Amino acid sequence: MSFRLKTVLGIALIELTVMAVLIGINQFALGGSAATQLYQRAEATARVFANTVADAVIATDLATLDATIDMAVSSEDLTYLRVRNPSGMVLSQGGVEAALAAPFVRDASFDDARKDHVIDIDLPIEVEGTEFGTIELGLSTRTVEQELAQALYSNILIAVIGMSLVAVFGFCLGTILTQQLRWLRQGALNIARGNLASQIKVKGRDELADTAKCFNYMAQTLARDRGILQDQQDELLAKRARVEVLVGCLRDISQRRHTMEVPDTERPDEIGDMARATVVFQNAMKAVELARQEQQRLISAFDQVEEQVAIFGEDGRVLFLNAAFRSFNTELLELLPDKFTLRSFLETGLKQAAFIGIKDPETWVEEQLRRSHGLPHEIRREPDRILLTVQSYVDGIGTVLSAKDITDLRHSEHQLIHASKLATLGEMATGVAHELNQPLGVIRMASTNCVKRIDKDKADLEYLRSKLIRIGEQTERASQIINHMRIFGRKAEGVNSPFDLRDSLQEISALARTQLHTLDISLTLDLPETPAIVLGEKVIFEQVLLNLISNARDAIEASEARKGKISITSVFAADEGHVIEVRDTGGGIPEGILDKLFDPFFTTKGPGKGTGLGLSISFGTIRDMSGTISASSEEDGACFRLVLPDAGPGLQTLGQPAA
Ligand code: ADP
Repeated sequence: MSFRLKTVLGIALIELTVMAVLIGINQFALGGSAATQLYQRAEATARVFANTVADAVIATDLATLDATIDMAVSSEDLTYLRVRNPSGMVLSQGGVEAALAAPFVRDASFDDARKDHVIDIDLPIEVEGTEFGTIELGLSTRTVEQELAQALYSNILIAVIGMSLVAVFGFCLGTILTQQLRWLRQGALNIARGNLASQIKVKGRDELADTAKCFNYMAQTLARDRGILQDQQDELLAKRARVEVLVGCLRDISQRRHTMEVPDTERPDEIGDMARATVVFQNAMKAVELARQEQQRLISAFDQVEEQVAIFGEDGRVLFLNAAFRSFNTELLELLPDKFTLRSFLETGLKQAAFIGIKDPETWVEEQLRRSHGLPHEIRREPDRILLTVQSYVDGIGTVLSAKDITDLRHSEHQLIHASKLATLGEMATGVAHELNQPLGVIRMASTNCVKRIDKDKADLEYLRSKLIRIGEQTERASQIINHMRIFGRKAEGVNSPFDLRDSLQEISALARTQLHTLDISLTLDLPETPAIVLGEKVIFEQVLLNLISNARDAIEASEARKGKISITSVFAADEGHVIEVRDTGGGIPEGILDKLFDPFFTTKGPGKGTGLGLSISFGTIRDMSGTISASSEEDGACFRLVLPDAGPGLQTLGQPAA
């Protein structure tokens, strides 16, 4: 419904209400006064008639009465007229038959009278206080009612005309008032359709005009903002095109096309920033590619090396295995998942009996997992291979495990040790021959004397017995010397077992003494009473001792004195373990070579004399026994110090090196 129609209808409704109230009041007032007048007229007529017919009633002159009544009902608005005597009997009556036939009921109000359109009233006929009868009179209300209807009609006509005028007036007013609104509506529609240049017509200075001005201002602002937005949109579209180009570059770079030229790097805006970031990404991708190639090279390098290499990440899972590792452990790897851990590798290896000589598997696994210090450690693997493993923890990577198959090296070492023993035996041959000569001389002398006595028949039993005992003693001595050499000449078997250090020290000292004696070099041995059990291969350890004694001998021989002293002292069960020190008076070791002594092939001896392998092999032997060997130079000569862990009962499985 339009605003104009609402205005018209609103005004018409108000008008209607006002007119209805006015007409109501008017009709009410008119009706009231007409009724009063009619009543008064009816009473006045009744009173006049009572006076007129009083004499005729008193005289009971019915003819006069009838004539008077006929005259009254024909000239007045009387509907009927009746005269009764005091006892209620009708003396005379006249008027409308129907009204006369109906029983008389006095009307109390005009509304009662309107029901039959007749006012029914009665009045006594009195003369000087005496009642001679009653007049009953019916006065028609139709005239009054017609007047009232006429008045109502006039009022309604006036109301209709008034309302029509008001409607026309309201229509005109609504048209004027809504004109600005229509302009506003049209303006809003124009703006909605995007025609921001259109301006709304403004008329007058009322609120609607102000609103129209605001609309015009809003349209101008919108037009300006739209211009700005359009510019920005154009700019954005242009940038988007550049961004798409750069995204294409990024895609190409990520597909390893690193050589392409990145555009827009000189631009000062965000596109420039993005282009520069793309260049950074390109460089990073180049670096990644280089790293990848480097990694590939490293992997193939790792695959080339004979050593087995395995890398386990911080979470314990395997990161890398080189070809040597994969090939050596093919069967184990088939049983393991892709991302196995070092623990699962060791445990599966134990289950498959791939590791040899493990006495306490649970402790062994934990021990292996703790090995992150980079110290070499030997492990025996099926089929009878010896692996020298090094396990180290590298920050940021994890555990790096390398293993080298040193089975052949060990065999060579053993052969070398054996050869060196045989050489030592050769060196000792002169001294041994001299040592053997002594008991043999004594035996020969004793046997000759016995023969002579027997020949002279002077051989008493006591004499022969003493000589035979002496021969037996000397034979024992000779056999001890030969026994030492035989034991020493034994080949290593590659099996570790506990042995008492004291036995080795005594046997090697006795063996060496035979040779040193001839060279005027004394050897003293200081041994505690208590046993000192260590774990290792006794014959190999003895070669270490003999090597130290031989080096001491060489140093003394090379010194000016050419005489000297070798002393072996030992302290067992010290805090650090069993300690053995071999000292000589050979002048010591020059400061500059102290840190090279244990290097393989380092020697200061002339060609054909030294191999430079003695101390390096000794170092390996002592390390395999979980011990240490160190050298120092003292006032008179050198001191070599061995420290070995005790392997007494309960400790034999700890730190057990493989042979
Ligand atoms: P080699 O005895 O064949 O030279 P080693 O490894 O046994 O090989 O010894 C290496 C070097 O250590 C010797 O050449 C020598 O210079 C030095 N050396 C070893 N023991 C002694 C010692 N007791 N006194 C002085 N120098 C020594």
